[in-house]
Amino acid sequence: MTSLALQIAVKLIRRQSPTPEDAGCQNMIESMLAPLGFVRTAVDSNGITNSIYTRQGELAGMLAFAGHTDVVPTGPIESWEHPPFEAVVKDNILHGRGAQDMKGGIACWLAAVAQLCAEQTPLPSLQLLITSDEEGESTDGTIRMVEYMQAQHTLPDAVIVGEPSCSEKVGDTIRRGRRGVVQATLTFNGKQGHSAYPQDADNAIHAAAPCLAKIAEIHWGDASDGFPATSCQITNFNAGTGASNVIPGTAQAFLDIRYNPNNSFEEIQTRIKQACDGCDVDYEFDHVATAFSTPDGLFLDIVCASIERITDIRTNRDTGGGTSDGRFLAAAGVPVAELGLTNSTIHQVNECVATHELDTLTAIYTDIITHFEVS
Ligand SMILES: [Zn+2]
Repeated sequence: MTSLALQIAVKLIRRQSPTPEDAGCQNMIESMLAPLGFVRTAVDSNGITNSIYTRQGELAGMLAFAGHTDVVPTGPIESWEHPPFEAVVKDNILHGRGAQDMKGGIACWLAAVAQLCAEQTPLPSLQLLITSDEEGESTDGTIRMVEYMQAQHTLPDAVIVGEPSCSEKVGDTIRRGRRGVVQATLTFNGKQGHSAYPQDADNAIHAAAPCLAKIAEIHWGDASDGFPATSCQITNFNAGTGASNVIPGTAQAFLDIRYNPNNSFEEIQTRIKQACDGCDVDYEFDHVATAFSTPDGLFLDIVCASIERITDIRTNRDTGGGTSDGRFLAAAGVPVAELGLTNSTIHQVNECVATHELDTLTAIYTDIITHFEVS
């Protein structure tokens, strides 16, 4: 028998929604949720489709689920074993773009909620936050919904982000934080000249080298709270004209910094500038992603207990991986746990998921919703 989660996942995958397209997915979700008492608020922004679906509950507290209906591009269609938007189910595997990331996860949450409402189980208030701008720029997606909820004072008490967090089995990993990302371009200014006449020039490489050595030596602090230590890598260095007898007038270094929540964007800028003290440098800093961390406590305990009840797995509270939309909610002070399907084929040709994973995740989500409480 085909589970409700599988049926919904198939319908969502068949809507072709490469980022930032939604392709009617959020209308489809509304048609499912409206009969269950959910009200949809559209928070569209610059052509991006964003929806907040809210259902007032019988119990205290507001639990949100956040996700995205956009998917990454398919890559060469002819390389797919099954067409990426046909959602073929074969040998208990669902094939298609978005199966793991993350139409499958959305389908599990919808199936859990539909089941609970059908059984008339008393529930906390529920929110579903869905964007079509997660895989792209993420400038008009979840962040706009968070701004809206802040203005309306409707932020949830906690949020499950349905990104595929698991590696081997559903439930083996949740993400409770992510490192932040800062990128910097440092342009060292000197004066170009002939290498036979160094007194008339100012070598930008000679200025840059000791500064970069100091930057590489910065001790940012130790690993802590489940996070690795902050790392600053000099990933590019460009200088010189190609001629052997020209002293370069400029030199440019590119830094990629992955930081844990013990450091901040401001501190990173200050310490890099200190390392270059006395040199003529132009700085460009880009705060690509803010670090966040949900501390151990009631919410993470509820999530982990549900996982253990359903799967017998003691889950790993991880902080790895790239960036996610969880950061926007965490920045607003909402406890965040990312919990979804396995991620073995995400963003790949032949993305797929085992159908039993959908059943397991639906059961976990159901258990979390029924055990949710606020302190
Ligand atoms: Zn995703």
